[in-house]
Formats: sequence, structure tokens, C-alpha cells
Amino acid sequence: MPEDPAREFAVSIARRLRDHGHVAYLAGGCVRDRLLGLVPADYDVATDARPDRIKALFRSAIGVGESFGVMLVRRGELVTEVATFRSDGEYLDRRRPDSIRFADEASDAARRDFTVNALFEDPIDGTIVDHVGGRPDLEARLLRAVGDPKARLSEDRLRVLRAIRFAARFGFRIEEGTEAAISGSTPALEGVSRERVGGELRRMLADPGRGTAARLLERFELDREVLGLPRTNPGFELLDGLGDEARDPVDALAAWLLDRGAAPDAAEREVLRTRLMLSNEESRRLARLFELVAIMDRWSELTVARRIRAGADELHHAAHALFLVRRPGPGARIREELDQLLPGGLPPDPLLDGDDLIEAGLRPGPRFKGILDSVYDAQLEGRVRDRSEALQHALDLAVEPTPETPQ
Ligand code: ATP
Ligand code: MG
Repeated sequence: MPEDPAREFAVSIARRLRDHGHVAYLAGGCVRDRLLGLVPADYDVATDARPDRIKALFRSAIGVGESFGVMLVRRGELVTEVATFRSDGEYLDRRRPDSIRFADEASDAARRDFTVNALFEDPIDGTIVDHVGGRPDLEARLLRAVGDPKARLSEDRLRVLRAIRFAARFGFRIEEGTEAAISGSTPALEGVSRERVGGELRRMLADPGRGTAARLLERFELDREVLGLPRTNPGFELLDGLGDEARDPVDALAAWLLDRGAAPDAAEREVLRTRLMLSNEESRRLARLFELVAIMDRWSELTVARRIRAGADELHHAAHALFLVRRPGPGARIREELDQLLPGGLPPDPLLDGDDLIEAGLRPGPRFKGILDSVYDAQLEGRVRDRSEALQHALDLAVEPTPETPQ
């Protein structure tokens, strides 16, 4: 297997630090992931070199919150975080250590959240350096807070969500003391910004462990706090049914919300938008998914043109995946029908456009869109077959009151 270039880069950084007399390890998530046989998303290096030394050794190094002792070292596309060993000070606002002190490697391990996240790896021989019992926990597939779980989870409540995310993603059991600290933390997410809550939830939902994550959130009664909406229905049918290949967190959020009850109305969607800091794009996607699922719920009442339009929607496949879990029979029939109506998945080009109407002597105006939509519907339903029939239909419509296009 070819060496992962990101790993090779991080190792080269650690070696260079070693060559200059420093202690340097690969640290945290990347060590955990390698031991689990997974490809790490990114690599971190931890070292006793201070930021000014790191800067002197790596020309590309730039500080990110230099007072926190974190530098980014870059080579082309590759970026590695190089952080000076530190111990965190007081968490006065429950968010950010008030002060940091540069420290030795054991203190740096001790400030980390979970034992499996606190491992170091020697860059030269790959030996694991374990100051907190993370290795046995990893082997036992156990998520355990470093140190006193109550204190660790209350000083930074983001860790409550991180615990759930890691347990769900790796299928780990949460150690009893850690679990008690999660249940005992009320109000559970005090001091954690909405942005970070939203970020954690997106990461949970994007992962195939999303069903487990949602169950854990509900078990610890964090679902209400995260979403701002009550559950009115039992079950995780849609969330579990989404499949491992589903990666869009908004699709998974839609699944979870449908599992929890009816599709949220506009006011509830606004609560979600502010709670989770959804982008405009995410909000639109969420609303459109519910619309398309609702359309499939009353498929048989729709005209052929409406079916084709829904089937050609860019979110049709995502919405259909949700619909199919709950109503496999009708879902399969819709799929078959759309395969007929939309060969290749694409609707036909319209026979007419606005220029054609102008050329035919109609004056541009607010009625144009309605006329073009009706002509296109007629085309989709086979009531007009070519340009001249389409034009005739447009002219007929132009002299009538505009028909309502059903939405
Ligand atoms: P992921 O694969 O999700 O990136 P990760 O373990 O690498 O997982 P990061 O958020 O990238 O997580 O953080 C890197 C490391 O920093 C963690 O492994 C952990 O040791 C430490 N860390 C991150 N966030 C916290 C926190 N809130 N409290 C204590 N330690 C933390
Ligand atoms: Mg990471």
C-alpha cells in the first residue's frame, strides 16, 4: 500500500524536530485512527519545541492562536498542525482554557478529552506512548474521559457531544463513570456555541454511525437541547435505513426529523435554522426534501407533468431514498414510472421559450411564465408533440385567462 502522503509529511516534520534535539510525536486522533485501521482525516504533531523554534525550523509555519502554542506547517496541499506540549489552565467560561502553560508530554496527554484521543506515536519506529491508559481502552473499544470524568466533562461541555460522536462513529461503549458524567451534566450544553453544537451534529449525522449517535443523544436527553424540537414519534426507521453511502448531514437530519414526528413546519424549520446555524443552502435543502417526500406521498393525485417535474428535481434522489425506506412498495413503483417518463433521468428540453413567444407576436409580460409552464406541461403529457403544436397551444392560452399552474 502506498504511504499516505499526509502521514509521510507529518512524520517528516516530527523527524526534523527530533533531529534538532526535540521530543516530537504524532498525536491524538491520527494515532487512534491508525490503530483502528482507519485512514486519519488529518495529522497532528505534538512537540516540546516552542512556537518560535517551530517557526525557525519550518519556514512555512504560521501561528493559529500562537498563544495556544499551535502552528500550521504546510507543504503544497498538505497541512499539519504542530502543537507545543501544554497543560490547559482554568476553563472559566466553560469554553476555552483561560490560560495555557507549556508543559511536558504527560501533561499534554492529561489535558486531552478521551483516553483513546491521548495517544502519542513515535515517528521513527511507530511505538505507541500511552500516558493515560488509552491503548487498553482502544482494544476494549471503550470511550473514557481522561482523569476525573465529572470535572473533564463539566469544564468543556462540547466534550459531551464529542463523546457521543466518537462512541457512535467507532461503535465504542462509553465507560460508566464517563457515562454518569454525561447524564449528570445539566444544563448539558451550557457555554457551547451554537456553531459548535451544529458542527458536532453535522459530523454525527454525516457518519454511518448516525443511528447510534441519535439514540445516544436521545438517551442522554440531549436531542431536545440540540434540535430545539420535541419528539412525538418513536423509532429510527429512516435514519437507520439511509445506508452507509449517504453522506449529506442535511439528508440525515431530514430522516431523523421524520422519524421523530411529522415534517417540521416553517416555524419549526426556523428554530432548527437558528439552533444549528444552518446555511441558506442547508435550510433550502431541508425544506425541499420535505416537500418532495410530501409530493411522493400523494403521487397518484399528480398529473404526469407534475411527476416529471418532481422526478427531475436535483434533490429527487435524496428525497426518494427517504421515501423508499418508509414506503418501499410505492417507492419502487415511483422509481419504475420515472425510469419510463425520464429516460436517462433527464426531462426533455422545452419545445418553446420566451423568445419564441415574442417572435409569435406576444408581448413579454407577467403571463409569459404561466403560458410557458402550461405549454411545457402539455409537452410532457404528450398533448403537444412538436413546435408548431406547442406554438398553437401557447397562442390559445394567450387569449384565455391564465390558467392556474398547480404547485
Ligand atoms: P477527528 O477524527 O474527528 O478529527 P480528533 O480526535 O482528531 O478526531 P480533533 O478535534 O481533530 O479530534 O482534535 C485533535 C485532538 O485534540 C483530539 O484527539 C484530542 O486529543 C484533542 N482535543 C480536541 N478537542 C478537545 C477538547 N474539547 N477537549 C480536550 N481535548 C481535545
Ligand atoms: Mg482531527
